[in-house]
Amino acid sequence: EPTRIPRAEHSISRSQISQGTLKVLYTLKDAGYEAYMVGGGVRDLLAGLEPKDFDIATNAHPDQVKAIFRSCRLVGRRFVICHVRHGNEISEVTTFRGPITDEHERDDTGRILNDNEYGTLEEDAFRRDFTINALYYDIRDFSIIDFADGLTDMKRGVIRLIGDPELRYREDAVRMLRAVRIANKMNFKLDGPTAKPIPKLAPLLAEIPAARLFDEVLKVMLNKQAVNNFLQLRELGLFAQLFPQTEKAIEDARSYNFVVGALLNTADRMKNDASVSPAFFYAALLWPPVVARMRDLIVRQNVHPNVASVQACEEVLAMAVQRIAIPKRFSLPMREIWQMQPRFEMRKGGRAKRLLTHPRFRAAYDFLLLRAQAGEAPKELADWWTQAQVGTQLPPVREEAVDS
Ligand code: ATP
Ligand code: MG
Repeated sequence: EPTRIPRAEHSISRSQISQGTLKVLYTLKDAGYEAYMVGGGVRDLLAGLEPKDFDIATNAHPDQVKAIFRSCRLVGRRFVICHVRHGNEISEVTTFRGPITDEHERDDTGRILNDNEYGTLEEDAFRRDFTINALYYDIRDFSIIDFADGLTDMKRGVIRLIGDPELRYREDAVRMLRAVRIANKMNFKLDGPTAKPIPKLAPLLAEIPAARLFDEVLKVMLNKQAVNNFLQLRELGLFAQLFPQTEKAIEDARSYNFVVGALLNTADRMKNDASVSPAFFYAALLWPPVVARMRDLIVRQNVHPNVASVQACEEVLAMAVQRIAIPKRFSLPMREIWQMQPRFEMRKGGRAKRLLTHPRFRAAYDFLLLRAQAGEAPKELADWWTQAQVGTQLPPVREEAVDS
């Protein structure tokens, strides 16, 4: 029942596929195995977008793949994936996965715990998440195989889960984040039944290991569609699951503007191929609750501002990492960016000069600019620090009420 679209009737040409991918596909084929390009690579090429990576599916088992490619490394514990290197390029080669059955080990929310069985091409197709991600480009004749009506959905501009949506989200709640990310990347809509169960099932994200959520949150938020993704994640109740503290704190309009400003800034940098650091991004996303907590400690609990700022940062971070495992190499610079914010207000004496030479000055200053833009820090303060960097002398400090 799958549809096969011959080369003459689709737009994907070999010249659009990376050298490394072609090499791997041909080598597998020449060794007598089936080999397909699948997933985002096929989807993006059909839509005229540049794929981020090309995934390869084969009936060769990992040890057989390893026997063919000298540069093959086996990775992953849950399901073994082969990384094959060709020059600087790494291709991901996965063996067809078998069907999910009632015999699979699940936790009490339905999440699949253990899944290492191999399967057929067809079984592999029905294990994939969305119909447009289950299109296979066959290296034997350059045709595309469509098991789930993915090409129709490509034309309609719809993201549709294969199978029963609720069941598929219960198997793996990360699919809710993927749905939003891929929809906005393609400028597609979520199919009605694919969107409908999300608000109800959003709490299942709590079952996802914190390390995996760290990766998935970066994928959905640190990209060119950051703002649209943020808006849709909020609408669907997913954002509140990922960042409950931020969800609460952005009831405050300035905090909301700050977060949107930071995401716009991120998206602009991505569009200009500038670097974006996860530390800066997470610092921005968690800043609103830091501000709220700091204020609470100072105003309600009479804690000294210096103590309050450190305590607020620690509390917010400790809470956040319970859901999303932010590695130390990011949380350390995050803390520095946060801790430097109150220090920007102290411009007298040698303090300002010392701050200018702080290794984290640039990031902390960019952060201050975003705060000023959102009306959350005085514009005068941001301007002063802009001046301070260009002049040989520090600009005079105008005493202005600090707006807090
Ligand atoms: P991109 O690479 O642009 O982020 P992608 O769809 O290729 O998007 P990958 O994470 O590279 O995403 O996954 C490759 C393919 O693996 C997907 O297209 C899909 O077929 C399948 N896949 C990935 N994650 C899941 C999942 N959670 N459940 C089911 N299938 C998945
Ligand atoms: Mg991919």
